[in-house]
Amino acid sequence: MTTSALSGARWLLLDEYTGEVGEPDVTLGVCHDIDGLFVDPEPLPPPETFTLLGCDPAGPLLGALRHLGTERAWLPSIALTPVHRPEHRPAGCWTYEYGCTCEEELIDVTVISRRPSAAQDGLADLDLRGYVRLLPECEMPEEKPDGTGFRLSTLDNENLGECLDVTGVFRVRPAAPVRPVTLIGFRPEATLPGAVEGHRITASLLAVQRDGRTAGHFGVLSAVVVSARLSRLGDGLLDIALDDGVEEPLPSGAREIFQMWYDGGPAEPNLWARYDRLLRHEWSGRAGCHRPQGLPDKPAGMTYHLDGRFITDIDAFYCAIGEAINGPGGYFGGNLDALHDCLHGGWGAASPFRLVWHHSDVARRHLVPGYDRSSHDLRYWSPNAELDDLLEIFSEHDIEVEFG
Ligand SMILES: [Zn+2]
Repeated sequence: MTTSALSGARWLLLDEYTGEVGEPDVTLGVCHDIDGLFVDPEPLPPPETFTLLGCDPAGPLLGALRHLGTERAWLPSIALTPVHRPEHRPAGCWTYEYGCTCEEELIDVTVISRRPSAAQDGLADLDLRGYVRLLPECEMPEEKPDGTGFRLSTLDNENLGECLDVTGVFRVRPAAPVRPVTLIGFRPEATLPGAVEGHRITASLLAVQRDGRTAGHFGVLSAVVVSARLSRLGDGLLDIALDDGVEEPLPSGAREIFQMWYDGGPAEPNLWARYDRLLRHEWSGRAGCHRPQGLPDKPAGMTYHLDGRFITDIDAFYCAIGEAINGPGGYFGGNLDALHDCLHGGWGAASPFRLVWHHSDVARRHLVPGYDRSSHDLRYWSPNAELDDLLEIFSEHDIEVEFG
């Protein structure tokens, strides 16, 4: 997409939401900057406590109980699926292969204590510490779904047993903080009725490049105009204060990475190496948005050299493999699924190829088993992506990896 935007515009607001089905999306306008878009993440909330009442544990949960009192009394995930009474399926409940939409997931769960349950002989009450994986697209788990108990399972649907009831999971939680933004130097499209106070804006946020093309989608703004004033940037532009912002703001350090790509992208490899994990993740995201389109793959059978000196975390690997295949600022997947996709071709290199992994000792020390709490958003917490996971994907695609 291109825009005839004024020079210097960095962001384009595209309404893909409010028109009738079949109507084209509407460009609401472009702006120079968005105050409040780049902000440091909120500190993580403390873990919550839950109790599984009348629990008959099985599988890995039983295994965790054998390590009660140690850090091994731990599970990455416990899915709680209500056992509905057949005649009482709640409104809005949809079933799928392994459960229903009333399911909730506890993550990063430590079993704190166990005691005999008053509910029934032979059952136990288990106190847990962890988090609920709250998904913004789902309703908050405020009311316990109707049923006779809960089935417990891992995310892979391995059985963890069952329980009669649970406390601590279904309750009202504080709302996510509102982080209002101001559009600086906004130029509305002529057709837009409303840079007007009280008007609601619903729009995708797209980054505009120096050449006017857009690259990347940065979430959705859905907010009401609080004020619209002439901008100090002049030229009839407006500064528009909104009452809310995007759901996932960008870390403040990412501004520099955006600027680098706005200026044409990195010209040498490993510029990402100075950043922390969070910003390396933003880097590979930018690289993906800016990957050249429509170029043929380099032919199969090539040899690529992976500079492993800075692969101290999995996001560093994605930055490095992108540059090994596609040069400075290159992209070749930003997570395991995307790496899979890239190895199917169309992302710069036809498979199979040979990969020489230089200084592989660094990755061997860092891409090890464990649990990944690095994201500031605990929705993304999960077991580590390990070196072995990468090697397995390479082997599935007949990529010959030679360690240097
Ligand atoms: Zn249900």
